[in-house]
Amino acid sequence: MIAEADLTLLPKPVLMIGDRQLESASGGTFQHIYAATGKPTGNIPLAGVAEINEAVGAARRSAPLWADMPRNERRDALIRLAHLLRKNAGELAGIGTIENSIPITIQSYGPHTAADSFLYNAGWTDKIGGDVIATWPTPALDYTLDEPYGVVAVIIPWNGPIYALGMLLGPILAAGNAVVVKPPELAPYSALRFGQLCLDAGIPPGIVNIVPGGPEAGAALTSHPGVDKISFTGSGATARHILQSAAVRSTPVHLELGGKSASIVFDDADLDAFARQSLQGASNNSGQGCINPTRILVQASIYDEVLERMKRVAEGIVVGDPTDPSTVMGPVVDERAVNRIMGMIDRAHGSGARLLTGGERLGGAMANGFYIAPTVFADVPHQAELSQHEVFGPVIAVTRFETEEEAITLANGTDFGLAAYIWTQNLQRAHCAAKQLVAGNIWVNGFTGIPTAVPFGGYGQSGVGRLGGIHGIREFLRPKNIFVSLS
Ligand code: NAD
Repeated sequence: MIAEADLTLLPKPVLMIGDRQLESASGGTFQHIYAATGKPTGNIPLAGVAEINEAVGAARRSAPLWADMPRNERRDALIRLAHLLRKNAGELAGIGTIENSIPITIQSYGPHTAADSFLYNAGWTDKIGGDVIATWPTPALDYTLDEPYGVVAVIIPWNGPIYALGMLLGPILAAGNAVVVKPPELAPYSALRFGQLCLDAGIPPGIVNIVPGGPEAGAALTSHPGVDKISFTGSGATARHILQSAAVRSTPVHLELGGKSASIVFDDADLDAFARQSLQGASNNSGQGCINPTRILVQASIYDEVLERMKRVAEGIVVGDPTDPSTVMGPVVDERAVNRIMGMIDRAHGSGARLLTGGERLGGAMANGFYIAPTVFADVPHQAELSQHEVFGPVIAVTRFETEEEAITLANGTDFGLAAYIWTQNLQRAHCAAKQLVAGNIWVNGFTGIPTAVPFGGYGQSGVGRLGGIHGIREFLRPKNIFVSLS
């Protein structure tokens, strides 16, 4: 039984530009659907070129105010925002569950993770400034000023708006930039509630503008001459469009893209610990996560045992109502995603892979929603689509390896490089493998989230630039060098 969405939780769908809220816009409207029931939740006004122009204008006018605000005041506003995120965490989790149907248990971490990012980055606002640099041979005073870019266009995907806003806007705002955020039409609601919390926290109107929209709005924003930097989180295909429009004005681009992250299970792994997390690649966000371990590489001597454990775990995953705290996995985001994922499952059958469990759309009480069973394919050839391409659905590919060398070759054998996971009790083996893996983030013996102070980002086609820690702040600052001759 899937409960109806509680639509009273949702904020009014508007565009937030400066101190104005627009209830209609030139990009038309989008009927948002609750993925768990297939029923509409509301009509979203979509930004067109006119509203993108307005939003960039509002951000440009307000940016100097924020950049020049006394650092303690900017810091305090971000701290207030963090506290508001915590205070409203339950409401935000409820909104998130309706907008993308990711279960409430996962959603409830989002506002706290975002709050942590704002608190951490608030701590940088009164510490960033610049350096004094030794130069020669002329006597001189040389120093740098760390300056914000100005207006940053922030394009986010639908699979975790509050997580994305925390990770991105923590450093972007702390560095003193104004933003135009374009959430997708598939998940506009929590970004709008977040925008209101920014105003409630005392961040001046025009610093955080929220303009839901589709590809047209994204294209208008990323090609806008008033944008000083682009931060894009999404697919590689869209990133290539954005890079083309950014090339016209050499606009700097920060990219957080997809992955096909390998989880290497060596023969000395703690299989109980692995078993608990083995299906994370499929079940976490219904497989709709950039860092999900979606390729499991298993050493030959434990291959059959691992398959058996994975099958058992997969078949025990509670799939159902995303608002029910006992649900582990909800639906995928929409009907288009169902068709794309089922197409990949069909082609996997013909690739030589062996279906271990799942592989079907779920019916019964879930028939009106967009549910796919947790799916595991064994014996997946390395060159198969399932090994090389992101599914963004609850489908895991398992492949056998013999030697450590072969495991590394397989793990590194895609165009991506976002995350990798190693399971072994041998420390030397873990460190050697971690050094050789071509990925931005590596977890050994388990995943416990992304701490806000660590650098996060991809290699290869998984992205450019880093969020988290000092790396995130630097991503959104540019150093100006000043040389004063003393001769
Ligand atoms: P997507 O590329 O289809 O859309 C992302 C955003 O880009 C949306 O807001 C969309 O409206 C916008 N967009 C679409 N066309 C555009 C254009 N021509 N110009 C500008 N903007 C445009 O991706 P998606 O399906 O929303 O998200 C899934 C992808 O995001 C996956 O590949 C996933 O791995 C990746 N992702 C990466 C991270 C990370 O941190 N590395 C986090 C979450 C998701």
